[in-house]
Amino acid sequence: MTNIAQHIQELQASLPKGVTLVAVSKFHPAEALQEAYDAGQRVFGESRAQELVAKAKVLPKDIEWHFIGPLQSNKVKDIAPFIHLIHSIDSLKLLQEVNKQAAKHGRSVRVLLEIHVAAEETKHGFGIEECRELVRHLPELPNVRISGIMGMATQTDDERQIRQEFHTLHQLFAELKATTFKDSEDFTILSMGMSHDYRLAVEEGSTMVRVGTYIFGEREY
Ligand SMILES: *Cc1c(COP(=O)(O)O)cnc(C)c1O
Repeated sequence: MTNIAQHIQELQASLPKGVTLVAVSKFHPAEALQEAYDAGQRVFGESRAQELVAKAKVLPKDIEWHFIGPLQSNKVKDIAPFIHLIHSIDSLKLLQEVNKQAAKHGRSVRVLLEIHVAAEETKHGFGIEECRELVRHLPELPNVRISGIMGMATQTDDERQIRQEFHTLHQLFAELKATTFKDSEDFTILSMGMSHDYRLAVEEGSTMVRVGTYIFGEREY
């Protein structure tokens, strides 16, 4: 068995029921994804539209493609025909563009609102207040289905801080689920946790982890 297959199987066996594994395959060649696929993995996350489209062309059609990185508005049209979930909605403008492109293809596209909780300025996403404000004023966007939130913790070894940030995300998720989205069947996803912190994320209530390095090894940029 290859390392990739082994890591997929270990992860799938260790994650609690109800937690979805997104195999983050950005910068890895299609052959690596095929190995993960052959080990049973069907959900893959990519962070560049062009790369995602190229891989989707050559890999099996039953793969569920997730977009996880910063998304430029002008790239939405490339993934709108088939994308399963966009984790990284960080502006109303982007949400409107997804709605427009989804409508063109007669689809409704599932999206997550990205929330900024980390200490680093460089990370994307809405502030918590901004998010509360946004969802209150969400215009009619019939072709997007807001399915939850996504966040990244600070890159640090301080477990307490990471846990606190995941806790904050979980609280916001629970609040939105109980209020704005109380009648929504879609709003079920709390996407948090990467290779170095997915265990903490799961303990803090994550329903979807995005794991790259642990499965595929280091990326070569
Ligand atoms: C790259 C990336 C991941 C995966 O990170 P690893 O540390 O390789 O597991 C998860 N989420 C997002 C948003 C990413 O860009």
